Amino acid sequence: MFFNSIPVLMYHHVMPLNSPLNVTPEVFEEQLNGLTRKRWKTLDGKEFLYLMGNPKESRKKCLLITFDDGFVDNYIFASPVLKKYKMKALLFVATDFITDLDIKRDNFKPLTHKEMWRLAFSERKHEVMCTWSELREAEQEGFFDIQSHGHSHRIPNFIEISDYVAIEKDLKLGKELLIRHLSKDPLHLAWPKGVYDEKAVDIAKKLGFQGLYTTQRGANLNNPLLIKRIAIKNKGIGWINKKLIIYSSSILSKIYHRIRL
Ligand SMILES: [Zn+2]
Repeated sequence: MFFNSIPVLMYHHVMPLNSPLNVTPEVFEEQLNGLTRKRWKTLDGKEFLYLMGNPKESRKKCLLITFDDGFVDNYIFASPVLKKYKMKALLFVATDFITDLDIKRDNFKPLTHKEMWRLAFSERKHEVMCTWSELREAEQEGFFDIQSHGHSHRIPNFIEISDYVAIEKDLKLGKELLIRHLSKDPLHLAWPKGVYDEKAVDIAKKLGFQGLYTTQRGANLNNPLLIKRIAIKNKGIGWINKKLIIYSSSILSKIYHRIRL
């Protein structure tokens, strides 16, 4: 009952700023350093799917790190730390915000998550989002495994009005653009804002996605179509260690949730 679940960590930003959904580079380094010292091993998407499909294989001290959206701070601040500790992470990108420009990042100014999204929806999107060449570089160096976050980040709106044609188009386009620009077929999809329903899951499955990531908390035993994640805060390794003990065990995570409810 211990180490039968694979904890999946969810990050959005790593940059020097005190704001919600952000982890500072210092704390991020402390977290990865702590994970290394405790001998945790980071998986890539392929290894994670394999372990989800083979629950009898040992998954002791295996975890998955994920980043949502594809903000450029991930490239600037998170990738050197991942590289330093030889760790891997899935990076879910919404392809509508990725441009083919060549940009110097010397002048990057950290902004809040909200402000960055506001720029992402303007003609200044390249200032806050990764470019295709940055994603290719990260992918080639091996510390980011680039995966899908759909195209427009508007799936929650489409679900609200039950527009499943739009959902299929969005997921398909997101997939096609990753194939075109990165020469890889993404098998993993993180639902924008964690919003999905049964029909959307069927569409994603039909399009070939094998791992579907939510923002719900919980254990991951053997269902890659409903992956639970832990939202990582700007807190030290002590906090993460506690979460990892809980979410590596189906029993402890159940008890923990009962107490919290
Ligand atoms: Zn998102």
